Amino acid sequence: MVEAKIRLYVDHPLSEGQSIPLEREQAHYLFGVMRLTTGAYVALFNSRDGEFVAEVAEAGKRGGVLTCVEKTRELQMPPDLWLLFAPIKKARTDFIVEKAAEMGAKRIVPVQTDFTNSERIRQDRLQAHAIEAAEQCGGTYVPEVADLQKLDRLLTDWDEERQIMFCDETLVGAAEALGDVKDGKWAILIGPEGGFSDVERKRLHALPYAHAVSLGPRILRADTAAVAAMTVWQQQLGDWS
Ligand code: SAH
Repeated sequence: MVEAKIRLYVDHPLSEGQSIPLEREQAHYLFGVMRLTTGAYVALFNSRDGEFVAEVAEAGKRGGVLTCVEKTRELQMPPDLWLLFAPIKKARTDFIVEKAAEMGAKRIVPVQTDFTNSERIRQDRLQAHAIEAAEQCGGTYVPEVADLQKLDRLLTDWDEERQIMFCDETLVGAAEALGDVKDGKWAILIGPEGGFSDVERKRLHALPYAHAVSLGPRILRADTAAVAAMTVWQQQLGDWS
């Protein structure tokens, strides 16, 4: 089997013999930055068809073509886990998205809560971070990053089949994070620096499909809390075992 060191996400069908035209940025990265030339190998995935090794057929400054040689891995879908979080400062928001992709979230949803500091996000930039993280961590799937949505609205339209792991900072030091809960569709919810408002907390506690959990005896920053919650969830209900 041929070895490819560079992994690239492409939004293009993949199968043996398939030609994949490269976008300008991808060509710049492969041939300008990484100095690949024709005949070199690259690993490709597209969130649908698994991973393929492809050969550089044409290498140009502004474009190029890869040809799929063989399939190297089947698609591995993450569990049906969403991460809902209130965006914080830019670098920390980037961190959360990157870690969510590495940890195996299927969908990443920035939510605007009562105390959310940031009113806007750059969805395209966050999506690019998720792609980069999937390329780097060997994933064959890139989680979708949704646009910023109001928590209030999201809960009104919520699919009751999807349980919520509601990380409630007022439960600091309370019992274990996840008790005896069943697997299936889930979402983790992490609040902003200011925590949840009383109105939000009350509403969440009243939802039959929301489980208020504690993440230990210390208050974690939102970015730490996101990684900790995904770890606990993956360990108990996800694809770690
Ligand atoms: N300013 C708030 C803390 C917010 S921490 C306060 O001092 O109370 C940001 C988010 O991380 C919280 O909304 C919660 O979702 C999560 N979080 C942090 N520590 C936690 C803990 N020990 N238990 C549960 N959730 C926690």
